[in-house]
Amino acid sequence: MIVAIDGPAGSGKGTIASILSKKLNLVNIDTGATYRCVALKVLRNKLNIDDKEEIIKLSNNIDIRFDINNNVYLDGIDVTKEIRSKEVTNIVSPISSIVEVRKNMVDLQRRLGNSNNVVMEGRDITTVVFPNADFKFYLDATLEERVKRRYKEYKEKNIEMSYEEVYENIKNRDYNDSHKEVGSLMRTKDQIYIDSTNLTIEEVTNKFMEVLK
Ligand code: C5P
Repeated sequence: MIVAIDGPAGSGKGTIASILSKKLNLVNIDTGATYRCVALKVLRNKLNIDDKEEIIKLSNNIDIRFDINNNVYLDGIDVTKEIRSKEVTNIVSPISSIVEVRKNMVDLQRRLGNSNNVVMEGRDITTVVFPNADFKFYLDATLEERVKRRYKEYKEKNIEMSYEEVYENIKNRDYNDSHKEVGSLMRTKDQIYIDSTNLTIEEVTNKFMEVLK
């Protein structure tokens, strides 16, 4: 069973995927975390973000794992918190645009999806990773609402980013994520579209559950 959810940053995919995974006993796979791990390794190895060749090499030999609590391990070390840092968030989108990096991450995501019942969220899950998923959703919200949510979340997690920085980051990522050579975020006719802008988490969950029931 594969429940696929795509949508832009801050639309609530992570929150909903986590709720659905508990309600339906599914493994929750946050595919953005795989790209964030590549970005973190690029920073750790002090690579230039324009050095595609080295970044591709790095992504060929990267060990990314998830545990049942959705903690993320990069080369054996828990990086769940680190991959959410401002530094990673600022470079992840261009790194995820590199076609060969995507190929490596999509292979990994497919392996994970094929060996478990999953709810998988990202940007290209309904279109590239699992176009034949049992359920395909596109979760949306306005830019302003998404920035507001992310800013609040970062404050709660003590991640230092001003409102303007969050706004710029999400706006840039929206552009990048929908203008990729491969794996762009897009809306298609066979996705179930849900706009969470004016809905509570419970209301969004109910909308998903109505379909999944
Ligand atoms: O979902 P999250 O914001 O953590 O994803 C981080 C970045 O990884 C996104 O901005 C996007 O550029 C990239 N990504 C992607 N394809 C996915 C998931 C995430 O390109 N399936």
